[in-house]
Amino acid sequence: MGALKGVRILKRSIDARQRTIYVNLKVRLYINEQPTDDEYVRTEYPDVSDRPQVIVVGAGPGGLFAALRLIELGYRPIVLERGKNVHDRKKDLANISRTQQVDEESNYCFGEGGAGAYSDGKLYTRSKKRGSIEKILNVFCQHGASTSILADAHPHIGTDRLPQVIEAMRNTIIRCGGEVHFQTRVTRLIIDNGQWMTPPKGDEGRACKVIGVEAVANNPQSSMISSQLEFFGPVILATGHSARDVYRYLAEAKVEMEPKGIAVGVRLEHPSHLIDQIQYHRKEGRGQWLPAAEYSFVTQVEGRGVYSFCMCPGGFVIPAATGPEQLVVNGMSPASRGTKWSNSGMVVEIRPEDLEREEVIVKSEKFAAALSSLKVLEFQEQLERTCWQQGNMKQTAPAQRMADFVSGRLSYDLPPSSYAPGLVSSPLHFWLPRPIATRLQEGFKTFGKQAHGFLTNEAVLIATETRTSSPVRILRDGDTLQHVRLQGLFPCGEGAGYAGGIVSAGVDGERCAEMCALYMQRLS
Ligand SMILES: Cc1cc2nc3c(=O)[nH]c(=O)nc-3n(C[C@H](O)[C@H](O)[C@H](O)COP(=O)(O)OP(=O)(O)OC[C@H]3O[C@@H](n4cnc5c(N)ncnc54)[C@H](O)[C@@H]3O)c2cc1C
Repeated sequence: MGALKGVRILKRSIDARQRTIYVNLKVRLYINEQPTDDEYVRTEYPDVSDRPQVIVVGAGPGGLFAALRLIELGYRPIVLERGKNVHDRKKDLANISRTQQVDEESNYCFGEGGAGAYSDGKLYTRSKKRGSIEKILNVFCQHGASTSILADAHPHIGTDRLPQVIEAMRNTIIRCGGEVHFQTRVTRLIIDNGQWMTPPKGDEGRACKVIGVEAVANNPQSSMISSQLEFFGPVILATGHSARDVYRYLAEAKVEMEPKGIAVGVRLEHPSHLIDQIQYHRKEGRGQWLPAAEYSFVTQVEGRGVYSFCMCPGGFVIPAATGPEQLVVNGMSPASRGTKWSNSGMVVEIRPEDLEREEVIVKSEKFAAALSSLKVLEFQEQLERTCWQQGNMKQTAPAQRMADFVSGRLSYDLPPSSYAPGLVSSPLHFWLPRPIATRLQEGFKTFGKQAHGFLTNEAVLIATETRTSSPVRILRDGDTLQHVRLQGLFPCGEGAGYAGGIVSAGVDGERCAEMCALYMQRLS
């Protein structure tokens, strides 16, 4: 009989469908040998100081993974990020609850790490490209994430651990000769009249090759206060789903885009012990060994999907607006998933064509979006403004107990909540656009039947969840990933409409970097 020298967990999942809960493990046993193989696959990042440069706009997962992949391929990334570094950003997040004001350049969506930095850090994705997903997880491990993310069926890093990982990724970029400029907001593309591309008919006079960007630096610590800057190179545009100024600039510049469907609704927050009791079928809840329970619900109401989104067990509901007169909520959780609350987005699918129907119009104001590429964005924006008005024109969020919402009753009081800026009781069933309110009501009835105890007045709905994905798709060529008309422009990640989540944005960032490298080879 050999001696057991080590055990490595390769896969771990929890099966809580029945009363007896199973933790399924796939393990590798080391018999008569010490575990020698690395726990993760390392990527080598060469020095690229003297290599041709590529501009990466946005330091979210899309931009950071694009920058690291460019280094692997021998190109020098210049990363331009409108927000602050991930450490300084934290103070602005705390300020939202303290002052009820949102810094337009530094918030839960803008700043180093993008929307992915102060998130749950869930790393699962519906994408099927296994190899690419494993690469992303391994790069996270190389930069300090726990190797448990390689084994867990539902890996997550946690909002308290993500900032160090992101900082380590930035340090790799800089150590290899790349640059990262914070508080540097890109305002325009620099376009050259390409000699080697035929513009589409009727467009002969128009420029068609992107050769760089203009930016505004606004860093009080630097000598470049509000200075205009130019950076040259092909551009990977990874500005995320909340950069509305970027979409508006692109629309004005007649860059081809189309409206994209989104999902809109509320954050639903339960006491976490209740979710544990429901999901683990035990009065004692999760007990000592099990993690905070997750859930996932989906149904169809009147031809549209109603579903739970971005579930954060043991987490917080947070204010995720990016500007004045907006109220947007989202969720995140720490690595321990140990808070008293569990929340998720509860959202209804909205397609661009739905906005042409009068009944989707937000009640308080006439919805006046032109039938343009920005119409879903404008709908989103208007709903956020209505919500802000309902929340007393601050970041205090309108809220309603769950059972009250379903039966159309105003809540006389509200349960304790993790949402730091505070809640105000409000008849969401009345002022949310009818197709959203009624579909959510029907969806909750269905979910309540599927999970006894889920539909309860112990849970509270917090309005409004609107930033579930990009409201616009920037059109790109499926093979080269370049914009359909502007060469040298690589619309990337969630903001371009090609990803939804940290991992898929990372995968798209890597693909854009690869296509950009091919483009550079053709140029040279
Ligand atoms: C609170 C919250 C929790 C989330 N939780 C999860 C989760 O647990 N798991 C998951 O998979 N996904 C989660 N998401 C979604 C996920 O964060 C995004 O899908 C992902 O970050 C998209 O990556 P991206 O790089 O495409 O865009 P972003 O992460 O949005 O990054 C875009 C970056 O571009 C910068 N930028 C914008 N405009 C400009 C400009 N003009 N000039 C320079 N820089 C600019 C922004 O400041 C930002 O840093 C969460 C999102 C939020 C808001």
